[in-house]
Amino acid sequence: MTAHAEPPSTRVTPAFAAALDKFALATLENEPGAVYALDRDLRLCYFNPAWFRFAEVNRGEPGISTRFPLGTPLAAAISGPLQMFYLASYTQVLQDGTPWQHDYECSSDTVLRRFHQRCYPLANRQAMIIINSLAVEQPHPVAAETHAADEACYRNQHGLIVQCSHCRRIERAAQPGHWDWVPAWVAVQPPHTSHSLCPPCYDYYYRFRRGTLPRPQ
Ligand SMILES: [Zn+2]
Repeated sequence: MTAHAEPPSTRVTPAFAAALDKFALATLENEPGAVYALDRDLRLCYFNPAWFRFAEVNRGEPGISTRFPLGTPLAAAISGPLQMFYLASYTQVLQDGTPWQHDYECSSDTVLRRFHQRCYPLANRQAMIIINSLAVEQPHPVAAETHAADEACYRNQHGLIVQCSHCRRIERAAQPGHWDWVPAWVAVQPPHTSHSLCPPCYDYYYRFRRGTLPRPQ
């Protein structure tokens, strides 16, 4: 077991450290997956060291930790069609006092990454722990069917590119319901991108899961 110094105040709030039951802080510190915690008002109250490594790999650092410091409401850290899903799900975890799990995708232009997320309410329900584990990492299977970043094909009448928040495919402007893998726009998000969920992702990962999520526009 690795010895740990106390995590700095930029990574843990005193209230969370005091409320922590059912887990030793060292367990969360040593967890190889990215861990964060939310207090009863769904504000960020803890990050483990792996959370910053995860953010760095996903090109989030240093932006994420400065944009979303401890105390940030989750509603400010998650935008788009997934916000209501996570807010409702986490609220219910704290209400029920029972763990909940969920799979999600966070791929790059060439690598498919699927994560498993486990959420544990503390016994006193003052906070919950969210542990993210990498479940699948492989060359992106749809890379063979790539499409060029063609503005004329994908930018819609409102001037927006519509991307699925889950699988990151892009919807064709003239053929709604057709979603293509456009790696150049996964690598670098084009300006004026709007996030939605494609129908299969919405149904399989969100619609029939915990809570009710209105179909995103
Ligand atoms: Zn999708």
